[in-house]
Amino acid sequence: MGVNILWDRQAPEGIELPVIRMIARILEREPELIDYPFLIEGYDRCRNQHDAQSILDRLQDTFTRRYPISGPLLLVTSRDLYVDGCDFVFGLARPTCDVAVVSTARLGNEYYGRTPDDADLIDRTAKEGAHELGHLLGLGHCSNPECVMFQPRTLDELDRKKKTLCPACRKALRAREEN
Ligand SMILES: [Zn+2]
Ligand SMILES: [Zn+2]
Repeated sequence: MGVNILWDRQAPEGIELPVIRMIARILEREPELIDYPFLIEGYDRCRNQHDAQSILDRLQDTFTRRYPISGPLLLVTSRDLYVDGCDFVFGLARPTCDVAVVSTARLGNEYYGRTPDDADLIDRTAKEGAHELGHLLGLGHCSNPECVMFQPRTLDELDRKKKTLCPACRKALRAREEN
């Protein structure tokens, strides 16, 4: 099954291909970069953040019905995301509907007052993008802190993850593909 990636026009430019190549290696699938206009909704002025659930609602209700897309769909956006009860989320997946979103807002070094580095941004975007797509492909969270399916709460935890699935998650993903 193919996976689709939609790059928000305001997401960082120029890193699309390295991110996609890295996601392809992690998930052993060739993602397709699709290009359609998409309006990001769910802005909360008090928080200066977007509600990830609203974005997924729109992806699910409008977007996937209006355009011919088959298979899991990941939106990459630069907007900072939250869900009710959380200060922020790196991303969110809705496996029942095959849609997910990942935010680059907190993946760049500059957010933490460090020197910007595209290589870091690419690594983190690929890991979290692959993580959300992994949910759409049937994987849950993994307790192995080095696995892409581990749920990081901080940038350090994210950086501790390797750019691979652990053997158990890889096996589960392959088993799903065969079915
Ligand atoms: Zn997750
Ligand atoms: Zn794992």
